[in-house]
Amino acid sequence: MKTAWLKELHWQIGIGLLLGIVSGLYLHAHVMNPIVAPLLQFFEFGGEFFIRLLKMVVVPLVASSLFIGIAGVNSSKELGTIGIQTAVYFIFSSLIAILVGLIFVNLIQPGVGSTLAESLNYNDNFAVKKPESLLKSFLTMVPENPIGSMAAVPFDMLGLIFFVVIFGIFAMKVEASVRKPIFDFVFAISEIMTKMVGAIIKLAPIGVFFLVTKLVSTVGVDVFIPLLWYLLTVSLALLAHMFLVLPGIIFIFTKQNPYKYLKQMSPALLTAFSTASSAATLALTMKCSQINNRVSEKVSSLVLPLGATINMDGTALYEGVAVIFIAQVLGHEVTLFQQFIVLITALLVSIGAAGIPHAGLVMMVIILEAIGLPVEATAMIWAVDRVVDMGRTAVNVWSDSAGALIIENSIRGNEDN
Ligand code: ASP
Repeated sequence: MKTAWLKELHWQIGIGLLLGIVSGLYLHAHVMNPIVAPLLQFFEFGGEFFIRLLKMVVVPLVASSLFIGIAGVNSSKELGTIGIQTAVYFIFSSLIAILVGLIFVNLIQPGVGSTLAESLNYNDNFAVKKPESLLKSFLTMVPENPIGSMAAVPFDMLGLIFFVVIFGIFAMKVEASVRKPIFDFVFAISEIMTKMVGAIIKLAPIGVFFLVTKLVSTVGVDVFIPLLWYLLTVSLALLAHMFLVLPGIIFIFTKQNPYKYLKQMSPALLTAFSTASSAATLALTMKCSQINNRVSEKVSSLVLPLGATINMDGTALYEGVAVIFIAQVLGHEVTLFQQFIVLITALLVSIGAAGIPHAGLVMMVIILEAIGLPVEATAMIWAVDRVVDMGRTAVNVWSDSAGALIIENSIRGNEDN
């Protein structure tokens, strides 16, 4: 029997995921057994340990490779080109994602005729957290204290990127002899961090197994039943965006086989799925994209950290589906103009949401308010949000990876000319 495929990381992670589902379901069914509670504590510990390892490498990896990446940029004009292309791609792909979601939710109409609103009694037990204003989040992009933004928990990725890019640009303006010590030092850090990520990635199958076992054993399957149509709609839309729309965009702009790249990115995508955090997955995303030199360090260190922070196709798509679903359940007619408002606010919300679990759910308040729906209604979908979050995070990371490949291609094309 041939077992070579078992050596491939994405298969190992896939098996970890499946085993996690099976063992989680088993433990959920035997929750009264006294051995189950300590076992679950152990899985929770293992999963958290893995996530902390992933987070541990993010700041030093991003800061060092971004600095080295900026130094590798041919001119500030090239930096501008990468910046503009990145912004255009992020906005364009997120808008398409929202449209995909809106098409599915309007066609399937998962909330029409649902009795969910009465049975959930959501008014009683849900405290709504108001997110920060989007303008304020934009302002905090400029860190008052760059050391603070490097040390911030959770990550202050935009502040970090903003400072390192400017620091990198000015480092190129001083004498080469002045720059050399700092360049050598940061280069050494970046090499060491890359090796560390390579080691952590090997733990992904077992980390994913722990995370999924804990999740499935806690959630079980009962909570999904009243929300089956919603789950079906959001899953179909996410799948369509992931396997048809984004590959189509990649093919149009790069003429490369998108599915080969998808396979290359799969360890990161499966980790995104299991952790529901694009920020925690970032080190893996960067590592996978650079395999076979498909994306250079320069582009990956600029586009991917930015993407993990502000480009969230999966979140954008989900916002549209969830808000229209809630409106359908509440019996609110959503006009075409209101759907347009959903399109724009979902884009803003996806830019503002952090790359951490449930960020999209909290930010949804902004869209609900914009079209006059009660914000407490998000309680309706709260129970299944973790699972939806897993799917949308994988799509978020895939869209970032697609953007990095497209921009890499365009930069290489420019260099060849
Ligand atoms: N969990 C998502 C992410 O990290 C954000 C969200 O909640 O939609 O990418």
